[in-house]
Amino acid sequence: MKKQMTCIICPRGCSLTIETDGMTVTGNACPKGKQYAIDECTNPVRTVTSTVRLANRNGMVSVKTEAPVAKSAIFAVMKRIRTAKAQAPIKIGDVLISNVEGTNIIATKNVD
Ligand code: SF4
Repeated sequence: MKKQMTCIICPRGCSLTIETDGMTVTGNACPKGKQYAIDECTNPVRTVTSTVRLANRNGMVSVKTEAPVAKSAIFAVMKRIRTAKAQAPIKIGDVLISNVEGTNIIATKNVD
C-alpha cells in the first residue's frame, strides 16, 4: 500500500511516497525525510506547544514539551497543562511541569 505525505522537517517540504509494506520511501531529498516518513507510519510524535496560567500574576507563559510525545498522548499532555499554574519569575527553559508522558513541560518565554 502507498501513502503520500509532506515532510515537515524543513521548509523545503518534500512530497514523500511510502510503500508501507516494505517501508520504502521516495521523494525525500535527504535521509531525515526517510526517517520522518517511517516514524509517521510506525510511531508518530509531536512537540506540543501551549500556555500555562501564572499563579502570582495576570497572564500566561508560553510552553512546549521538552521532547516530542506520541500523538496518542497529546490529550493527556494538554490536560496537565490546562490544570497547571506557574510561579513567576520564569526563564526560558525552566521546567514548569515535570514527568508528563515521559518528558517535561518547559517555558519558551521569560516572565519577570
Ligand atoms: S526530506 Fe529532507 S530536504 Fe526534504 S523536507 Fe524533509 S528534511 Fe527537508
